[in-house]
Amino acid sequence: MPIALVTGANRGLGFATARALARHGMCVLLGGRDPIRTEAAAAELRTEGLQVGALPLDVTDPDSVAAAAAHATDRHGRLDVLVNNAGVLPEATDTRDHAFADAAMFRRTYETNVFGTVAVTDAFLPLLHRSVMGRIVNVSSTMGSLQDQCDPKSPYYGMILPAYQSSKAALNAVTVALAKKLAGTPITVTSVCPGWVQTDLAPGNRERAPLTPDEAARIVVTAATLAADAPSGTFIDSAGVVAW
Ligand code: NDP
Repeated sequence: MPIALVTGANRGLGFATARALARHGMCVLLGGRDPIRTEAAAAELRTEGLQVGALPLDVTDPDSVAAAAAHATDRHGRLDVLVNNAGVLPEATDTRDHAFADAAMFRRTYETNVFGTVAVTDAFLPLLHRSVMGRIVNVSSTMGSLQDQCDPKSPYYGMILPAYQSSKAALNAVTVALAKKLAGTPITVTSVCPGWVQTDLAPGNRERAPLTPDEAARIVVTAATLAADAPSGTFIDSAGVVAW
């Protein structure tokens, strides 16, 4: 049975992704920074007959990342799928606010969305190398697409969230660099945009976003189950390839 880890899996898209991967026949580790809420999320999925476990994991805490990797090594000995889903959007989404995001805001956003992903990937890479077909999925956003941000015809053109958008652009650059590093291995690295999802990522999302977390999780599963000959280092959404 393939082993998968989803970070930030106690709620939102991460929880739906954990459920979808488990329904796909994987044993899924739900990574979460609050052990009690993460265990509760895992228990909910177990009532559905799914094979899941809770893994305490704060992606911004090096000790927590190391402990999670050590636990997975002892318990499972390998990892087949890593979904870097944990993410934050702490800046104001009101675009009438003309203040530019300050450096502290950038740091807070990058700590999770970029450095957290890098730290978790680095810690779990030895386990992914023990898989016959490792799959790394970085949950990004079209908000990180520079082409989209610069296209006046894009629905996202008027959205200005400097810290979040640049963190996802940086995450996409990490996807490309890592895919090159891992060329010649069976491991693929993919950035995905799940679409606009009914979660608590930003105020108003639950009321206005068109996609349920279960619907949005499908594209993550697609990237997590890419065929052996699929290209690595791509950026996709449910409609196909997204421009960087
Ligand atoms: P939510 O706010 O609902 O969930 C975010 C998850 O990330 C929570 O489980 C949260 O845990 C976790 N998390 C945050 N910081 C850390 C950390 N330091 N360590 C471990 N876990 C952490 O948001 P979504 O489910 O919407 O977001 C999931 C991903 O999808 C993000 O990367 C986001 O950028 C991306 N995305 C979302 C879109 C949307 O429309 N919702 C659109 C495009 C991309 P906790 O409960 O402890 O806070």
